[in-house]
Amino acid sequence: MAAVLLDNITKHYGKKNQQAPLILKGINAQIDDGEFIVVVGPSGCGKSTLLRVIAGLEMPTSGNIVIGHKTVTALEPSQRDIAMVFQNYALYPHMTVKQNMAYGIKLAKMPTHEIERRITQTAKMLDIDGILDKKPKQLSGGQRQRVAMGRAIVRQPRLFLFDEPLSNLDAKLRTSTRLEIRRRHHEIGITSLYVTHDQTEAMTLADRIIVMNKGKIEQFATPYDIYHQPASTFVASFMGSPAMNLLNVQIFNQKVCCDNTIFEDIIIPTSIQNSGKSKWILGIRPEHLTIVPYGTKHAWQIDSTMVETLGAEQLIYAKIDTQPIIIRTANQSHLKDFSRQNNQLFLQLDQTKLHWFDAESLLSVAS
Ligand code: ADP
Ligand code: MG
Repeated sequence: MAAVLLDNITKHYGKKNQQAPLILKGINAQIDDGEFIVVVGPSGCGKSTLLRVIAGLEMPTSGNIVIGHKTVTALEPSQRDIAMVFQNYALYPHMTVKQNMAYGIKLAKMPTHEIERRITQTAKMLDIDGILDKKPKQLSGGQRQRVAMGRAIVRQPRLFLFDEPLSNLDAKLRTSTRLEIRRRHHEIGITSLYVTHDQTEAMTLADRIIVMNKGKIEQFATPYDIYHQPASTFVASFMGSPAMNLLNVQIFNQKVCCDNTIFEDIIIPTSIQNSGKSKWILGIRPEHLTIVPYGTKHAWQIDSTMVETLGAEQLIYAKIDTQPIIIRTANQSHLKDFSRQNNQLFLQLDQTKLHWFDAESLLSVAS
């Protein structure tokens, strides 16, 4: 087990003197011993590159990687004491499950009785002790995934790296395996970096989440803070489904205006009032909007365009003037009481749950 320090890591592919685009643009992060960190971001933002640089499969263009108290930047992958689990598992097809699990530690010249002990213990933990003599092609996707995990666990590395290990599994298996990974981490406690593009995996697995965008860290925080205090419009719209509503608003005469609609009752934070700027982005999560009866005071009129019923809840797609807005309501019976003439609904928001972003930098402003 070990803490990890990523110190200003940059990476471009190709020769050093070439002007290739930077794929990693100065990654800084300090990961505590035993933490489970999820790196999340859209496809192509540099997640796999970051993991490969940490594993030593790619050299960074600049910057340093420290694992435990050791700078490993110039070390071979085999000298870093890291185990990696990939999306395609990369099991050896001609070997049995047991041989697959033993391969790495045999190479490391571990005594046979210790190899046996670790395999028995790990196989029991992962519930694969009944399939040790099978070949990978005889296994289901979920079993292969567990064998790949087992092969990593028997090495007892200081650091686990996972690159989208669940993306080949169907939805149900993904959920159960996700829970299992979390449980194993509680048992073993090895520092882990887990890459995914799936925000649900990120929210449910992580002690802390790194949200990446275009080779940079947008935010590094707990799942709670990522959701409740997103640092930028990117994080706000990437984490949460449906995404946070982001309205382009202007402030005139101490009032918030969205196109031609004036939000009379929104309290404008002092820092925003004092800034002298008029253009802002107002963020509101769909669950912080409420449909209220016709005629309720301080309610905004919106045009609802579509209602989508999802069992326990429903999503209302609407517009405030030209700007789209999504409302999530839990209570079905609700809607029919309201005047829906001309598809018009009335809306109130939770004043305490508003997010303000600078319209130029797109960064959150303390409210
Ligand atoms: P992610 O895992 O977030 O989807 P990657 O780290 O795989 O992103 O890729 C980030 C960017 O780096 C992409 O634009 C990709 O095309 C580029 N890239 C990845 N690997 C290589 C490589 N070996 N050579 C050149 N470009 C690469
Ligand atoms: Mg990737």
